[in-house]
Amino acid sequence: MFVGAPDGRLTTCRSITFSIAVLAGVLLLFAGMGAPDAFASEPVAKDARLGGDANRTRFVTVLSKNVKFGIRTLANPYRVIIDMSDVKLNFPAGRGKKGRGLVTGYRYGRVEPYGVRIILDVKSPVLVDKASIWPASNGQPPRLVVELVKTDRRTFMSKQAAQRKKRAAARPKNRSKAPAIPTPTRRKSASAKRVIVIDPGHGGIDPGAVAKSGLKEKEVVLAFSKTLKKKLEDSGRYKVLLTRSQDSYISLRKRVEFGRQKGADLFISVHADAIPGRNAKKVTGAGVYTLSEDASDEEAKALAAKENRSDIIAGIELPPESNDVTNILIDLAQRETKNLSISFADTLLSGISGKTTVRKKARRFAGFVVLKAPDVPSVLLELGFITNPSDARRLTSSAWRAKVATAVANAVDTYFARQMARKPF
Ligand SMILES: [Zn+2]
Repeated sequence: MFVGAPDGRLTTCRSITFSIAVLAGVLLLFAGMGAPDAFASEPVAKDARLGGDANRTRFVTVLSKNVKFGIRTLANPYRVIIDMSDVKLNFPAGRGKKGRGLVTGYRYGRVEPYGVRIILDVKSPVLVDKASIWPASNGQPPRLVVELVKTDRRTFMSKQAAQRKKRAAARPKNRSKAPAIPTPTRRKSASAKRVIVIDPGHGGIDPGAVAKSGLKEKEVVLAFSKTLKKKLEDSGRYKVLLTRSQDSYISLRKRVEFGRQKGADLFISVHADAIPGRNAKKVTGAGVYTLSEDASDEEAKALAAKENRSDIIAGIELPPESNDVTNILIDLAQRETKNLSISFADTLLSGISGKTTVRKKARRFAGFVVLKAPDVPSVLLELGFITNPSDARRLTSSAWRAKVATAVANAVDTYFARQMARKPF
């Protein structure tokens, strides 16, 4: 839910500002000068700071103009989520690393479809005592001011439940839901293009694995996914879609839904792993993962847990579990999907072996949420370890990207060729 000034007033304000900006821009152009930044129409969050103590902590965001925002809390772990639409985040580097009072630190970035999100990580249960936009006055720019006070878990949880109810009531009733029952197996003519969905992991507020050098998984996997998309499209055989094409977070469930809604024949989630500490130099290479409730080993289980944390990092509220009947239906459809996923994963691994370093035990399985589409064969490709210096060099090389993307595209060709060969006439 968004609070602050009512919609109409904001829109009017914005359009007047916009008209003035356009007029000023035109006048300045006539004068042979560029339009200064002050006339840019998008609001900018320029800075943020914390104040107060362990009983009452204030979080202030300095804005270039009034914005609409939403605020709520989440448990496990305790967090305060602030969403702002149509804002450009332009905080000085390093903001949010240090905490104060009840806040241990804060993170920020894009989250679809909310816009910009700031997550305050808090030590203990808190209540949002005040949250409002202070308009510009006395030469001070507008500010979003949030005041948090300490509370106990019971009060926190009951407030959160009330919040959830209110949000559910505000949600439009006819919102389209992902089909709970698997859609029938799609029959495609031999000439129809296969649909491949590539899913660059993480993004926006969730950087994924981060190397000491500052290299981020979200950047590495997006660059690779774009190269792979182009390679696949160049063959003329595939329609290729990315779950994200910019630095923005999408929930794991939305990624899965995207694959299903687009009628994907194959879903490839692209990631890069990290092992911090002393083992960073030792552990190297790519790996291919498929979905299984029972993990192949402890390491795969830990990796899935880490990748599944993505939604928690991005402040996404996890949906309640679906009912048993749905699960049985999904399970039935998944058997075929599972076999196809395994078949592609094996093909993919042999395809990339020799083109890049692969791990000793490179085919593993575990409970990755992003691979849970019941009717879309899905694999998760870990490109390498960004914490390993040799892997990091490879991951940031465009020549390496081109070589490995070609190998993945060839594996996709092989997989579909085998499928066609197996089909009865
Ligand atoms: Zn990842």
